[in-house]
Amino acid sequence: MKKNPILAVGSVALDTVKTPFGRVNEALGGSATYFSASARFFSPVSVIAVVGSDFPGKHLEAMRLLGVDTSGIEVQKGKTFRWSGFYDFDLNTAHTLRTELNVFQHFRPKVSPEARSSRYVFLANIDPELQFTVLNQVHDPWLVACDTMNFWIENKRKALQKLLKKVDIFLCNDAEARELSGEYNLIRASKRILSFGPRLLLIKKGEHGVICFSKDFIFLAPAYLLEKVFDPTGAGDSFAGGFIGYLTRSPRLNESVVRQAAIYGSVLASYNVESFSLNRLVDLKRVEIERRYRHFRRLTRF
Ligand code: AMP
Repeated sequence: MKKNPILAVGSVALDTVKTPFGRVNEALGGSATYFSASARFFSPVSVIAVVGSDFPGKHLEAMRLLGVDTSGIEVQKGKTFRWSGFYDFDLNTAHTLRTELNVFQHFRPKVSPEARSSRYVFLANIDPELQFTVLNQVHDPWLVACDTMNFWIENKRKALQKLLKKVDIFLCNDAEARELSGEYNLIRASKRILSFGPRLLLIKKGEHGVICFSKDFIFLAPAYLLEKVFDPTGAGDSFAGGFIGYLTRSPRLNESVVRQAAIYGSVLASYNVESFSLNRLVDLKRVEIERRYRHFRRLTRF
């Protein structure tokens, strides 16, 4: 199967996270980081982002060692984007304590001439205006997917809606779908969001799985059942990495491909939550992904 490179823009961050099982301080995180660490199993990924002069070089090196193209990550004078949050025993809900945009505040992303011909674009969670600027620089992409969060729905709704007109696949969690659409019921919310532009909507529901909505079908994918969950941070982005990664290996986007991609997404997310930061994704092997994919099939057959 042909490998199609993916261009991803999003945050590369230092995260401080507390869960009922432990905490990490200023660990490597960010939406583009988790996405690329997952999608790289399927296709090469180039990341566009900015970090501050305080960003540890070892983190960029770690991303390179995973095979991620970091040449689009600018290092600017100033502080790196930081996010801090915590989870209670309901691990499905992240409580944000602080979001410090820092160098992202004045970032003007530039897409290299080579990356402008990317066929797959993933706009990981970051300011929708930055997502739009990157997308505008890519000539005729075949597939554009986009993620967001409540922070942007509340602060940049107009920019987000403008962006959604140009997006094929939109991913968000159930609370965000409700907030964006103004509808509590998820079927009604999906119809409203699909009317904004995307042809596929993926609503993530944490440990309760994901629902894929298009105007022609609905698919319910459970989350993989785990005995140990340490840190759900990045679950959504690693899901997106597995999902979009798998799509790059398929010549078309139909219902059965979407169903398989959703399971690959769930597999990547399930590994990610087994440890803090990117620790588990860094060690992960392709055979482990396939093993869990097969187990998923046995668990859900009826
Ligand atoms: P997830 O758990 O998949 O939704 O994403 C977690 C990652 O998103 C963390 O590593 C954070 O650094 C990053 N993040 C949190 N808030 C924002 C934000 N407002 N914009 C961009 N990235 C963010």
